[in-house]
Amino acid sequence: MQEFRDFFTRGDKLYKANQIHKDIELIWVPSHIGITGNENADTAAKAAAESGSINQAEIPYSDIFSVIKQKCISEDQEKIVNMAQNKGQLYFNIFYKKNAQPWFSEFKYLNRRAIVSINRIRCNHTSLKADLHRFKIIESSLCDCDGKSEQNIEHIFWQCKKCTKERKELVSQLNSLNYFEPFNLRALLAKNDTNIIYAISSFINQIKIKI
Ligand SMILES: [Zn+2]
Repeated sequence: MQEFRDFFTRGDKLYKANQIHKDIELIWVPSHIGITGNENADTAAKAAAESGSINQAEIPYSDIFSVIKQKCISEDQEKIVNMAQNKGQLYFNIFYKKNAQPWFSEFKYLNRRAIVSINRIRCNHTSLKADLHRFKIIESSLCDCDGKSEQNIEHIFWQCKKCTKERKELVSQLNSLNYFEPFNLRALLAKNDTNIIYAISSFINQIKIKI
């Protein structure tokens, strides 16, 4: 009855009707009676309200997975950015992209040799003599082609006499893509352009020297 008293004290139509001694009849309309679903819902709601407890529903795996995945990705990226202040600056400055997928995920037809070699070029850790010498694995850093040139990535791509034929094809392809000498290999790779990547990977696959 409290609700009805509130009606009368709020100066609404019911209050005015009461003032002029109009008869008012309040009727409860049993709209939910006889409908099983509604009655069950009412009973459940009443029981929950009285017990004061809330049932914790289990969260489906699919809902929580994307949240965890996103958290892992952002924590990884934060870690990489922090690490790049001391280590891998060359790689970070040229190649780093805030992307959960590796660069080669866009290139479906690259073989393993090309992917591994390009990864090595990107991080400046190849199997060429200059790098192996730098890590004190072998004594000489010089290429067999002339016995006096450092066998590094620039030498193999643009100078080594052992790769002349393969280089001709690479240079011709780069020229047709509007790139001309002197070439900057890492800058070309960083473009992640399909034609450039396939031209470079074709050179890598054809030369005898493993990068
Ligand atoms: Zn050489």
